[in-house]
Amino acid sequence: MKVGFIGLGNMGAPMATNLAKAGHDVTGFDTADVTVDGVTPASSAQDAAQGADVVITMLPNGKILSHVAAEIIPAMAKGAVLLDCSTVDVDSARTVAAQAQEAGLSALDAPVSGGITGAAAGTLTFMVGGDEDGFKVAKELFDIMGQKAVHCGPSGNGQAAKICNNMILGATMIVTCEAFALADKLGLSREAMFDVVSTSSGYSWTMNAYCPAPGIGPQSPADNGYRPGFAAELMLKDLRLAMDAAQSADADTPIGRAAQELYAQFVENEDGMGRDFSAMLPRFEKRGHTSD
Ligand code: NAD
Repeated sequence: MKVGFIGLGNMGAPMATNLAKAGHDVTGFDTADVTVDGVTPASSAQDAAQGADVVITMLPNGKILSHVAAEIIPAMAKGAVLLDCSTVDVDSARTVAAQAQEAGLSALDAPVSGGITGAAAGTLTFMVGGDEDGFKVAKELFDIMGQKAVHCGPSGNGQAAKICNNMILGATMIVTCEAFALADKLGLSREAMFDVVSTSSGYSWTMNAYCPAPGIGPQSPADNGYRPGFAAELMLKDLRLAMDAAQSADADTPIGRAAQELYAQFVENEDGMGRDFSAMLPRFEKRGHTSD
């Protein structure tokens, strides 16, 4: 396939390289003027989009996506697929998809989980919203860039699935960390805590697979000085998107809101920026019952 790839950053560059390695003809554009293995550089976003069967965008946020979409939609061939893999707000995803469909294109929102390691290894999971025909065309590309693609329904539903998942993840990480800090103060060893919880009703992905306590459970960023992994500021971005969506859909999400407030505090007023999101544990360790 002829693929246009716009946004060749930490995630986009390895994803584009994997498509080129698999034999697709990939033309890429990034405002940062980067060179990426196997990818033919274009002089503009329109240039990368012209004549492509599928145009993939992997951009920082919904505002930039909307801006890029307005540029490339008129340049794309009728029947082509606009495949956005960025994590953006549900409203922007739905607006961009409607504009693409009006112009005779297929549109998919397909945010990913798996991070930079998954992008490089081609093991991402795609959560996909949009029409069935577009999904069928893009499936071949999902299979190269990832290990799983779930079609979640109409446009915006990929973003909805991503932010709901990450709201659970953020809140669960916080409570796992605060439970470890409480266990410390009660004199319970971290090994005992892990052994009990990981096989009891408090078990979770954050405890069992990504344990925030160093030296306990399988290898995780905690064993590497809390270098990300999944950075706290990216978790904050996703929690903010979840809270925007909750407001827009009139949903009551008190724990999600508390998680967003805590990560905002950690990233913006403490030392959370650039640290893994599991570094909430050393944060709680330093605090007492009435700390604010
Ligand atoms: P990044 O900042 O490394 O890459 C974004 C790229 O977009 C940059 O290279 C930037 O120069 C480029 N860009 C910005 N404006 C542009 C424009 N107008 N035209 C063309 N290029 C433009 O970010 P990333 O880590 O690659 O993340 C990309 C997306 O994937 C984000 O939405 C992020 O939330 C999501 N995501 C990231 C991770 C992760 O672990 N990094 C995991 C899952 C999802």
